[in-house]
Amino acid sequence: MPDHKIETKCVLSGYTPQSGQPRQIPIVQSTTFKYDSGEEMGRLFDLESSGYFYTRLQNPTNDGVAAKIADLEGGSAAMLTASGQAASFYSIFNIASCGDHVVCSSAIYGGTSNLFAVTMKRMGIEFTFIDPDCSYEALCAAFRPNTKALFGEMISNPSLKVLDIEKFAGAAHANGVPLIVDNTFATPVNCRPLEWGADIIVHSTTKYMDGHGAAVGGCIVDGGKFDWTLYPDKYPGLCAPDDSYRGVIYTERFGQSGAYITKATVQLMRDLGATPSPHNAFITNLGLESLHVRMKRHCENAEAVAKFLSSHEKVSWVNYCSLPKDRYYDLAKKYLPNGSCGVIAFGPAGGAPAAEKLMKNLKLAQIATHVADARTCCLHPAGTTHRQLGDAALAAAGVSADMIRYSCGLESAGDLTDDLAFALDKI
Ligand SMILES: *Cc1c(COP(=O)(O)O)cnc(C)c1O
Repeated sequence: MPDHKIETKCVLSGYTPQSGQPRQIPIVQSTTFKYDSGEEMGRLFDLESSGYFYTRLQNPTNDGVAAKIADLEGGSAAMLTASGQAASFYSIFNIASCGDHVVCSSAIYGGTSNLFAVTMKRMGIEFTFIDPDCSYEALCAAFRPNTKALFGEMISNPSLKVLDIEKFAGAAHANGVPLIVDNTFATPVNCRPLEWGADIIVHSTTKYMDGHGAAVGGCIVDGGKFDWTLYPDKYPGLCAPDDSYRGVIYTERFGQSGAYITKATVQLMRDLGATPSPHNAFITNLGLESLHVRMKRHCENAEAVAKFLSSHEKVSWVNYCSLPKDRYYDLAKKYLPNGSCGVIAFGPAGGAPAAEKLMKNLKLAQIATHVADARTCCLHPAGTTHRQLGDAALAAAGVSADMIRYSCGLESAGDLTDDLAFALDKI
């Protein structure tokens, strides 16, 4: 639906019923699909015709929801995954293998940092983590001849740094690699990084897209603008024959707009799984239908809470890029003019012990390993999600010992600030 506004796309994209068909996207809860002849199915296995044969690779419900997210981001193709982690993993593994290298912002989600720095390192893919606020020259200096991608987080979880997408895209393209952006916190309602030069988007749909804490999921969107064929030696997986499909060359058969997602689907999903259940995709789609309405309210609540906290005497600091005095305000004005996200980070006076005490005294906000939910929740990253990281890695991820990550839900902003006022009073 290229001509429609984002609100309309949230509601309508991805599934268009024909006369007499269900109005809501059907949940195709079937592992497999029936064919009249073996030859017909054989053509699917050779990627000569498109269709469904086994849900580990593709399912109509999942594809409908992926198509909606592709449309929201302005991409050419998308694939759902069973989690955000799987989306981040596949986004890189689709174009990098043992012996390759990736440059990555150090301000990323703790789970992504473990995946890249520990697990993918064991697979022989090396990551260089750089401060996202470094100069363009410093960013370019991190590239090597075997670098296959640049990765960053649009609004970083939990440090809430805003990515300078144009700087990152410039460095990626000058070095002949795609820019992959995790757009989980901003969502395509507030920012579409493809419009600023990013090439591939990943999401944890578990967060705002679902928005109700009901379904873990992820998504990869390809912008279809990166020309892999300019670098055939660098991306042989896309530009050279795939022996597991009788020598198919993805860029030739599926073109620039389809090669990357087709390869991820028919090769990585086939071999590694991480397929979402169609039922979870349906739940994600319910969330997507109201994403534009909810994001506005999440942001309004976060602005009210951030203002309240920044004027409170028992709060040492507040990170929220939509506050004029925030370090990232100028980048936010450029890339996130209509709002950023509902997540705030702050430090209470008195350090880590005060943070623990404050959280215990919150009645409305619940302590949960979750963000971007209809219900307000909070977490002490240094003591939980990021407790595996050493001091240097914590500092690089922008996590201080006193940091509370506070995710504003959809409740009344006044109730949230009353709740915080009560708990701050106790420390
Ligand atoms: C939660 C999160 C992830 C991981 O997603 P899961 O759905 O939990 O696997 C990745 N990136 C960001 C920014 C996240 O907040």
